[in-house]
Amino acid sequence: MSETIFSKIIRREIPADIVYEDDLALAFRDINAQAPTHIVVIPKKVIPRVSDASWEDQSLLGHLLLTVQKVAQEAGLTNGYRVVINNGNDGGQTVDHLHLHILGGRKLQWPPG
Ligand code: AMP
Repeated sequence: MSETIFSKIIRREIPADIVYEDDLALAFRDINAQAPTHIVVIPKKVIPRVSDASWEDQSLLGHLLLTVQKVAQEAGLTNGYRVVINNGNDGGQTVDHLHLHILGGRKLQWPPG
């Protein structure tokens, strides 16, 4: 599978503000924050889009959500937050490495644009 800038972040080939890491996942601050707290959680395994995930990835996907929970708690998002997965062109995905956005620190609008 083709690599993206996120693989370079995993390998520390380019800098990022990493806030969490374990064997399966990495979390770092988004370089173009859309909220006071904007953190991206990624699997170390390269899965381009959530639509490319398979049932083999079931426990990894659960791991990512629980990582979101942990990272949001550590970031102090006690008043809530939003978790976003953009998928493909119409979903607004720009980096083809599955990632979960954590957005918080302000009241977010709904519906998104
Ligand atoms: P998406 O549009 O859902 O594919 O989200 C990709 C996100 O990755 C965007 O919010 C970008 O700002 C963010 N991003 C791209 N490159 C970097 C980087 N080097 N460090 C941190 N965040 C990045």
